[in-house]
Amino acid sequence: MSDFDLTDPEPQSDSELVFEGALRPQSLDEFVGQTKVRGQLELLLKAAAIQGRTADHILLSGPPGLGKTTLAMIVAHESDKPLRMSSGPAIQHAGDLAAVLSSLVPGEVLFIDEIHRMARSAEEMLYLAMEDFRIDIMVGKGQGATSVPLDLAPFTLVGATTRSGMLPNPLRDRFGFTAHLEFYDAPELEQVLQRAARMLNFPIADDALAEIAGRCRGTPRIANRLLRRVRDYVLVHRTDADKASVRAALTLYDVDELGLDRLDRAVMDIMLTRFGGGPVGLNTLAVSVGEEAETVESVVEPFLVRIGLITRTPRGRVATPQAFAHFGVPHAQGSLL
Ligand code: ATP
Repeated sequence: MSDFDLTDPEPQSDSELVFEGALRPQSLDEFVGQTKVRGQLELLLKAAAIQGRTADHILLSGPPGLGKTTLAMIVAHESDKPLRMSSGPAIQHAGDLAAVLSSLVPGEVLFIDEIHRMARSAEEMLYLAMEDFRIDIMVGKGQGATSVPLDLAPFTLVGATTRSGMLPNPLRDRFGFTAHLEFYDAPELEQVLQRAARMLNFPIADDALAEIAGRCRGTPRIANRLLRRVRDYVLVHRTDADKASVRAALTLYDVDELGLDRLDRAVMDIMLTRFGGGPVGLNTLAVSVGEEAETVESVVEPFLVRIGLITRTPRGRVATPQAFAHFGVPHAQGSLL
């Protein structure tokens, strides 16, 4: 998903990252939705505080834009400890990880985004670090090489991944708490939007917020982005921030009532028109839309399944009757449904 797309769940520009930073909830109380995960995290952090120890390691999984980074920041904030941010792709050698781990201060929260993309050699170093707060560093080369143990300050690792299935079991097992973030429902997204509108000092009608909430792919990042575009529209057209303005602004940006993005639409188009609704295998689908199978499986599919446009079967992905109806494609003969 490299092209600009208003409903792309990934962050799109530096200015968006600055904007996101300003809107990020700072505490569990401000964090909207994910009620169960929030309650579980609260308990975990409070228990650690009572015992005066670092919180257990935390693994957060789920599609982009649902609040994994925000929760990592909240863990640090609520524990009153500094946060160190890194990512799997930045850790390509065990040495990269050793440099980070050995410089942590006691209690520091280490956030590793896209942890499933870390180098294998670093992963093995991380096992020991997570379990015993210790690493073994190789000194020298060849036959003279020796391994020197190095004690680390106790830390809490928060790992984030869009693909928890790609993590090796020994790594997954070392997290004391794992949580899967779900897409947000409409009332939760309205709350996210109300909070953002307040912070942006942008008065907007409740039914206008509800309209945005219905078109943001269940994703707070997209909700906030659409709100900004609506604000632009209202500013330029000197109009009220009402439902009609939202509809006009989002039509201008090609955001349909379901909030599907370009890749969602490409996947649905291929399924409905080229494969008559399926079943289609994941790899065939990915090749047909020119994307990685990983992206289709972890970013596109979960939302399409959630809103009932496709189902997963042992023989592949199948478009539902709602999908045929939504896109106005005649139901193919011979389809399974
Ligand atoms: P990625 O995997 O792409 O890094 P992410 O899951 O880490 O995404 P965040 O960066 O934490 O997502 O969230 C994106 C934006 O959405 C943030 O600016 C944050 O303000 C907002 N947001 C996410 N979750 C919530 C929430 N529960 N309540 C309010 N705002 C939220």
